[in-house]
Amino acid sequence: MPALLTPHIDPHDEAICLGHDEDLDESRGSIMPPIVQTSLFAHPSLEELFDSLDAEHANAVYTRGQNPTVAVLERKLAALERGERCKCFASGMAAVSAVFMGLLGSGDHVLFVNNIYGPTLQLAKNLERFGIEHDLVLDTDLQKIESRLRSNTKLIFFESPGTMLFRVIDFQKLVALARKRDILTAMDNTWATPLFQKPLTLGVDIVVHSATKYIGGHSDVVAGAVVSSEALMQRIFYNAFMLNGGILSPFDAWLLIRGLRTLPVRMRQHHQDGLQVAGFLRQHAGVAAVFHPAFDGQAQTLVERSLTGYSSLFSFQLATSEFGAVCRFVDALRLFRIGVSWGGVESLVISPNRVDNQAALAAHNIPPGTIRISVGLEGAEALILDLDQALVGLAV
Ligand SMILES: *Cc1c(COP(=O)(O)O)cnc(C)c1O
Repeated sequence: MPALLTPHIDPHDEAICLGHDEDLDESRGSIMPPIVQTSLFAHPSLEELFDSLDAEHANAVYTRGQNPTVAVLERKLAALERGERCKCFASGMAAVSAVFMGLLGSGDHVLFVNNIYGPTLQLAKNLERFGIEHDLVLDTDLQKIESRLRSNTKLIFFESPGTMLFRVIDFQKLVALARKRDILTAMDNTWATPLFQKPLTLGVDIVVHSATKYIGGHSDVVAGAVVSSEALMQRIFYNAFMLNGGILSPFDAWLLIRGLRTLPVRMRQHHQDGLQVAGFLRQHAGVAAVFHPAFDGQAQTLVERSLTGYSSLFSFQLATSEFGAVCRFVDALRLFRIGVSWGGVESLVISPNRVDNQAALAAHNIPPGTIRISVGLEGAEALILDLDQALVGLAV
């Protein structure tokens, strides 16, 4: 049985997304916050400057630490995730990096659970040079996960739904396990957005986002965010954020504030259109399997426990899975643009399949013939017709 959730967005969240920030009175009734395009903030006296410098995580001194336009976005994202603090970054990867660099040291171990965004794992591989070890468990069975924990495991990093196969995991149990052993948990919540999943309310310590995807929503900005408690954010801020310097520009923050204004309406539509397209593919003879959390029969109760809606990124497996067929299918699509990334208004398609990477895919349980699509806002009917013509083309 598919888990056909009705998308639910907390009315409080609509106000956070659409509302104008209260403490920018200087903006004289402007209904968008001003873009405070400055590198530094002058102080009335040297002593006041020194006071500000003593708490740069809280005061606007230099835009590498704090900026009022970026702070508007950070307050909104923290509120949406029900976290104490948010810091925004120049990209999702800068956000992920800051979690690792901010909280880990030589000799520590990170356990990754579920299918994970490729560059995050590449970054972990890079951190081996600094004495930080890691393992990846694809098995969602809790005992198997537990058996991979080590005495030096400091962080469990996971995605749910996971990259490419969109499997949901029982992360509440995982969090309980981590808490018992004083291990921090971090979750990449890019897929669901804070509107459809709030990991911090379910016990997760740290949430990261690529705001490049649905939060920006228009494929015109690259950005990231971390949300956590004040105490963890202080460590991330002073160990990584200010020193690595991967900050979000005030203008890009402003674009994201604009993106947030339509996030609720976009996500409701993405939920619906994504499900409609997935439902179509599921009954098509040219499709062997659809990987979408709604159609993961075994995970239905998990889905209902953590998600309040679906985004529209999912994948499916062609019945004919050789590389030539994958290329012919993708190239035959007309409405889906061929490219990386996702979460914008335009539909996108990509395949992880290459001519020679079957073994690498198999290592991540990804079947050959897998196609990933991001369902945009062109209308489900038109997208279904397009997919149908490309599938029919494969059969002849
Ligand atoms: C895109 C993405 C990232 C990285 O974000 P960038 O903004 O591209 O740096 C991290 N996690 C997931 C799940 C992503 O899709």
